[in-house]
Amino acid sequence: MKLLLVEDEVSLSRAITTILQKNGYTVEAVYNGRDALEYMEAEEYDGVILDLMLPETDGITVLQTVRKKGNKTPILILTAKAEVDDKVLGLDSGANDYLTKPFAIQELMARIRAMTRNPWTQTDTRLRFGNLTLDCATFELSSPSGSFRLANKEFQMMELFLRNPRKLISTNRFIERIWGYDSDVEASVVWVYISYLRKKLASLESNVQIKAARNAGYSLEECP
Ligand code: CA
Repeated sequence: MKLLLVEDEVSLSRAITTILQKNGYTVEAVYNGRDALEYMEAEEYDGVILDLMLPETDGITVLQTVRKKGNKTPILILTAKAEVDDKVLGLDSGANDYLTKPFAIQELMARIRAMTRNPWTQTDTRLRFGNLTLDCATFELSSPSGSFRLANKEFQMMELFLRNPRKLISTNRFIERIWGYDSDVEASVVWVYISYLRKKLASLESNVQIKAARNAGYSLEECP
């Protein structure tokens, strides 16, 4: 999953980014409201963490602007503003959730999971396809034959596959979703990760395979 973090305190931004990455998210960080608007316009995120007191354009204006444009990306406000009026304004302006600083990291993680949860997965953190299960809380990929705890990039790749079973996912889409929009990662890197996942699927004796479509991308298929 890819998140945008809008936070002007550089040290806090770095700390949150590190924790999110350890928890399997791709994070892009911006430090003012103007960049937040630009990034949200240019890219698709699974969720946004938005500070309110920001240089250039404040958080409430960012929120109102993107909602007015019809952007439905889940947005969590993370702010030192703890007054009831601020929370009401934030939520009424289109935020999905509101968390005040100082905050407990576990609570931030739980709120991000809740905010980005697909309606069809409900409270279940597991994605399933064929005889394969991926637990998005523990990064564990399992089959009746065993399990692996996936590292960050492998986990994100598998998650993207399992949220889009049987659909062709292009190499560029993997790069954009996992390495980020302005990364200079080559297609061969995606291939390397695909090969890691294929090895794991084989050793799990899974009936699920990653099929390659020449020059187009990859899809997750269930074998009869
Ligand atoms: Ca701030």
